[in-house]
Amino acid sequence: MLKFEAVRIDPSPGEIAELLADGAAAANRRCRTRLLEDDPAKWRKFARQTQAAPEGFELWRGGRGGAPGTQLVGAWWTDHIGRKHVVVRGRRIEHESAKLLFHKDELARRPPLWHGYPEHLAQRWTPVPNDLPRVDWIAVCGCGAVGTPDALGWMGATCGPCHDRREEGGSLDHVRPGWLHGERSPFLALAFGRTGKHLAGIEADGTASVWDLAKGRVVRIPPPVRRAIFYADAVFAGPDDERLVLNLNGGIEGLGAVTVRDWRNPDRPAIVPLYAYAGATRVWPSRAPDRFLLATDDLAQMDLDGRPMQRTPLPGPFIGLPNAVASAPRFMPFIRVDGIRFLDTHTLEPGPFAPYRRRSEGVYHRIAAEYREEAGVAFVAQFGKLDVHELRSGRPARSFALDRIPVAAYHNSPAWIRQMALVLDGRVLVLVVEERLVMLDADTLAPIAAFAWHLGPIECLTIAPDGRTLATAGNDGSVKLWPLDRLLKGRGTEP
Ligand SMILES: [Zn+2]
Repeated sequence: MLKFEAVRIDPSPGEIAELLADGAAAANRRCRTRLLEDDPAKWRKFARQTQAAPEGFELWRGGRGGAPGTQLVGAWWTDHIGRKHVVVRGRRIEHESAKLLFHKDELARRPPLWHGYPEHLAQRWTPVPNDLPRVDWIAVCGCGAVGTPDALGWMGATCGPCHDRREEGGSLDHVRPGWLHGERSPFLALAFGRTGKHLAGIEADGTASVWDLAKGRVVRIPPPVRRAIFYADAVFAGPDDERLVLNLNGGIEGLGAVTVRDWRNPDRPAIVPLYAYAGATRVWPSRAPDRFLLATDDLAQMDLDGRPMQRTPLPGPFIGLPNAVASAPRFMPFIRVDGIRFLDTHTLEPGPFAPYRRRSEGVYHRIAAEYREEAGVAFVAQFGKLDVHELRSGRPARSFALDRIPVAAYHNSPAWIRQMALVLDGRVLVLVVEERLVMLDADTLAPIAAFAWHLGPIECLTIAPDGRTLATAGNDGSVKLWPLDRLLKGRGTEP
């Protein structure tokens, strides 16, 4: 989606006008309709505005109506030593679901600094006793400093002290990427590899991307057949993440199609077709590095070449299996009509069982479940409710409605828990509630904070194996990487 990006410090008005012209041309490239016109008078006007105010923002779009279309954003912001940061970003929006990117008032709800350095900024809700939560925009520096830009002496990409250190020739440690971009469609699935170095994303047209986070490179894998996908999974397999297993469900045939790719050699044909199944399929990571799991009408342990090594019948009347959020999870939650059976991902042996009452028929993919082994607690989310089952004590389940969790409450809007994950060694439970990530203390269920960044709801979520980084994606075509350890520092989440 993103085709042009330029960040300049103290550029001249002429330079700004040139950047806008270049941005418009780049965003239009290889496109035929609803293009952005080059308009030197408009670009010069924007350049003058940047001189007149400390910060601001402007959006231009090609054509009227929805997608596809071309979009150009210009924003500026002044740091506390008076330097003006100007950013120009050009995008091509191909998919109707990302149309929020065409709405100026939607984009203007973010501060100009967010448009400049979105990878370092997030919106935060903090609970306040007997009051509404406090909402602010916070910056997160690579050094671990977190706070409002003012409090950190924010300099664009780093805090004030890190900026000074770099000016003095020192190096910056712990730089982790903040966001990544898809090719053209909304994301349906994300997966971290077990090394934590690789992240995969599948888009709604079946395109897969694999990012090498250390090297900052991306490999794009076109789908075997271009068609609409209803849901998808991606799983890495192999001790070094050498295989990518893709599961694309949908199309008029309603097929589940599973392929295994040697993703480092995207031109090499897939080890296909592993499975073309007339019905829903799911792939899941196994705890064993040289295996992955395939669910069809039974459950199979597959080797790296897609050969079944062990087959097990499904454990009871089956409704569904949510997307995996961890790269080597200990348990997979099997959703039955009468409850959740947690299966060991290595032996496929049945583990704990959390009975529950379904709140609706047949909406299995909106059920999320996690099991916290050391505490013997199962968390089950359906729509806007979170149930907590203490399986060891056998005490009746406790129930939490989102409107009673201060940082998750949405006024008069039907918010759902779309996904759920235990992070930071199981101490924090993350709920995906529309655009927000809501963090609860996994022991006390006290709300810690909530964070938002995406335009529109989050569709998918994955956690790095070290439990410190979380990745989310949705319709806006971007993947956001959340440095959880930094975001939650000093919020009572340390062991
Ligand atoms: Zn810093």
